[in-house]
Amino acid sequence: MTAYPHLLRPLELGHVTLPNRVLMGSMHTGLEETGDWARVGAFYAARAEGGAGLIVTGGLAPNAEGAVLPGAAGLRTAEDVAHHRMVTERVHGAGGRIAAQILHAGRYAYSDRAVAPSAIRAPISPFRPHALDEAGIETQIADIAAAAARAREAGYDGVEIMGSEGYFLNQFLVAHTNRREDRWGGSYENRMRLPVEVVRRVRAAVGADFILIYRLSMIDLVPDGSSWEEVVTLARAVEAAGASILNTGIGWHEARIPTIATSVPRRAFAWVTKRLMGEVGIPLVTSNRINTPQIAEDVLAEGCADMVSMARPFLADPQFVAKAARGEAARIAPCIACNQACLDHTFAMKLTSCLVNPRACHETVLVPEPAAEPLDIAVAGAGPAGMTAALAAAERGHRVTLYEAADEIGGQLVLAARIPGKEEFRGLLDWFAGELAASGVDLRLGHRVTAEELGAYDHVVIATGVRPRAPGIPVAPGAEVVSYAELLSGRAAPGKRVAVIGGGGIGFDVAEFLAHVPGQSPSEDLALWKREWGVGDPRQDRGGLRPGGAEPAPPPREIAMFQRSAGKFGGSLGKTTGWIHRSSLRAKGVQMEAGVEYLEIGPGGLRYRRKDAEQVFAADQVVICAGQESETALADLAARRPAGSTHTVGGADSARGIDAKRAIADAYRLMLKL
Ligand code: NAP
Ligand code: SF4
Repeated sequence: MTAYPHLLRPLELGHVTLPNRVLMGSMHTGLEETGDWARVGAFYAARAEGGAGLIVTGGLAPNAEGAVLPGAAGLRTAEDVAHHRMVTERVHGAGGRIAAQILHAGRYAYSDRAVAPSAIRAPISPFRPHALDEAGIETQIADIAAAAARAREAGYDGVEIMGSEGYFLNQFLVAHTNRREDRWGGSYENRMRLPVEVVRRVRAAVGADFILIYRLSMIDLVPDGSSWEEVVTLARAVEAAGASILNTGIGWHEARIPTIATSVPRRAFAWVTKRLMGEVGIPLVTSNRINTPQIAEDVLAEGCADMVSMARPFLADPQFVAKAARGEAARIAPCIACNQACLDHTFAMKLTSCLVNPRACHETVLVPEPAAEPLDIAVAGAGPAGMTAALAAAERGHRVTLYEAADEIGGQLVLAARIPGKEEFRGLLDWFAGELAASGVDLRLGHRVTAEELGAYDHVVIATGVRPRAPGIPVAPGAEVVSYAELLSGRAAPGKRVAVIGGGGIGFDVAEFLAHVPGQSPSEDLALWKREWGVGDPRQDRGGLRPGGAEPAPPPREIAMFQRSAGKFGGSLGKTTGWIHRSSLRAKGVQMEAGVEYLEIGPGGLRYRRKDAEQVFAADQVVICAGQESETALADLAARRPAGSTHTVGGADSARGIDAKRAIADAYRLMLKL
């Protein structure tokens, strides 16, 4: 008997039966744009082998003007069809099913060719789109239908029409982006004409025996978004026009409410899909922040949806479904929703991967082979780099001893897990602990390994991480100055008026830690989180925005952050999450002072100069988050060992810009070579 009976139940769609209720949601990986279609095929085939019931590809452009970026992958030519056939054949060979997502970006297209219902620039785009005329609209519909026909020709099992997240079809639906006065604008009946017509024409183009998913924005989270009545009306019209599944879209890209970041509570929007259950006859898929089989099971068992969509969890672990089915859920590498190696890469025009799984999108490039000769390998430090190195080496057949000076594994991850909004790191630590236990790695906790002890090993990996940088600010007697590690580990209690030195990732983490009452993390309390961000019920509040706006709980103390550089505060934070941290802390009244020169920390607070004026922030505590330096305790080891047998990874190698993503990726890549 499985622990996930709802999740693993087949889904009957008429002409086809899906083996389970798991849809691998659409993600833009950048793989298609590499032109290496064998690699694209390998990526999707791994997820099909891992048991995803139905996979949806990243968004594919139906025409040049609808492409998210110039040159973005599409379904526009016979050559595209040939390339995509390589993908569908691999997926079918692995026993899976795959649908192509057709994405017309409308005014979100990053190009001066962008088209939209009206010539209104999106707040997140520099380009003002061209308003389409009647013929232009017909061209878009015909191009989308033709792309769907090509998807079928390429062997896809279906298409997903992207109708949410504020893209082209969504832009017709709401009045603030659609100011038309013809039959495509004005009344709701007119505004929904385009999406419904697209579905009708796509169905006509692909025939009855083809999956047609429509991704419908169920809560826009933007001003003047759709009302609930409009959502229901559209859902029914789209069903009548030929959709076979409705997928849930949450929030437009321009929404100022986070929808998938790690600080968003798990299954935060399943209740929205549940509102639509019973309003249509076709299956509904729910989405966003579902990352374990148990959460997915609960969502289905509670009748929130007929199917769940998970996207990033399939980057973290392609075997998600297979492991759940085998009763090995604890061994699923967890997606911690950090966005650091996936969405942040996408926005930086870099290939997607995954912080916890560097093989994601690198299936044909990073291939662990059994070691030619099993060696004795010691790893010093059980932070993210050390744990990854130990696991990767053990997986290849080496005999591994992992030394850690602390009494627990994790290094900096332990501190991260204490930040409100970063609770997902706890799951990552549990996963590492479980994998180490299962791997045969000899883990020696509470053991600060010496150079002498390391002499006996064939190879030594130094993964001792970083230590906080001392900023060298003069400190007068009587001042309370603590490091972020002392504060987050509980060795120092937080003050009442706290100055945070440093506006990097850790400065922001510390400010979040200080801005919340212990035990009251909005990320673990959906009602609280909705109040903090102003999320309402779309049944009463148009677009799901609370009429009173956000109502953040007051912080338990006064907090001010400082940085010397004059640029944007938190400029080094991830593109997709930095704005969330800035906005959440501003809402809590956290002061942010950029361009300062530190003068002294004294019992009266932090004295600094800004714009030629000397100022004092009357802090009773100053927390230092001024970056990191490599831990160099074993730095001279290499000189005492045979050449090429000592390796330094992660923060111990270079502290500059070090984070868990780089630590894990560097360690993994190193261990493939030994
Ligand atoms: P960081 O991002 O490099 O920030 C260091 C901060 O300290 C900067 O604001 C810097 O600002 C300040 N600083 C540097 N030298 C200083 C000095 N001598 N005196 C006073 N201030 C100084 O480092 P971090 O905050 O320690 O983070 C470490 C790594 O973890 C980074 O790569 C970071 O991205 C990552 N991380 C990321 C997240 C996330 O949310 N994605 C969270 C935590 C950590 P000024 O030089 O302008 O004063
Ligand atoms: Fe999830 Fe982070 Fe991996 Fe992206 S990089 S898939 S958010 S764990």
